[in-house]
Amino acid sequence: MAKSKLFVREDLIREIMSREDAPLVIVEKFEEYDDISDGWFGIHTLFLLGLMKNRASFEALKKLIKENDFEEWTTEELCHILANFGEEFFDDIAEIVMDRGYGIWNRDAAYRALLMINPNRKLKELSKNLIRGVDNEEEKELICLLIPRMMTFHDEEIYMMCKEFVKKHGSCYPVFHDYELGEMWEEEEEIENKKNLWEHFSKQNLCYLYKINYGKPKIGRNDPCICGSGRKYKNCCWKYFM
Ligand SMILES: [Zn+2]
Repeated sequence: MAKSKLFVREDLIREIMSREDAPLVIVEKFEEYDDISDGWFGIHTLFLLGLMKNRASFEALKKLIKENDFEEWTTEELCHILANFGEEFFDDIAEIVMDRGYGIWNRDAAYRALLMINPNRKLKELSKNLIRGVDNEEEKELICLLIPRMMTFHDEEIYMMCKEFVKKHGSCYPVFHDYELGEMWEEEEEIENKKNLWEHFSKQNLCYLYKINYGKPKIGRNDPCICGSGRKYKNCCWKYFM
């Protein structure tokens, strides 16, 4: 998988998923394989572990996000990967939100995952505890990230607590003024839905990732395709680059 770099076939993913020792091997070999793969191994494994959805893959995922910086990948996709673990892992994901050992973008992603799984009473209580517990800059930044998410509850008490928070601590991204809070409260917040993680491994998505990272492939129409399918480029992925 590491050797195939960006383009990984679905059957290979399924084969890895069927192996019980996969999460362990991924964590053990992470750095070495990520170097070989031009950085794609790490990103692919986050999705793969999400698809596996078991205790071992959850623990591996936690370790990877705690010890590595996935930059914008964490903010955009991690919430969906965590949400895929489902209700059974609700308390485990809540622990990530509360654990100051994780970066705030990871904790924000975990919070978003909980909202997708089940925005229940437990999550309301957790939100209140987070706001009450702010005692440093990092916690303040986290609450600022979470305020727009918390508004989706439409809970009067949480709204008042957020208002108090902005008054007391001043503003930070993405809440700069307290009137913005009012706007968020009024607004019909769009609810995020879980994504199908297999979409990450679709040809269309992998070609899109190729395009934004490497530009259009500079190969002839009759050359073997960049995805490694063995077919000619003109009969394979060229359509995704048009
Ligand atoms: Zn191709």
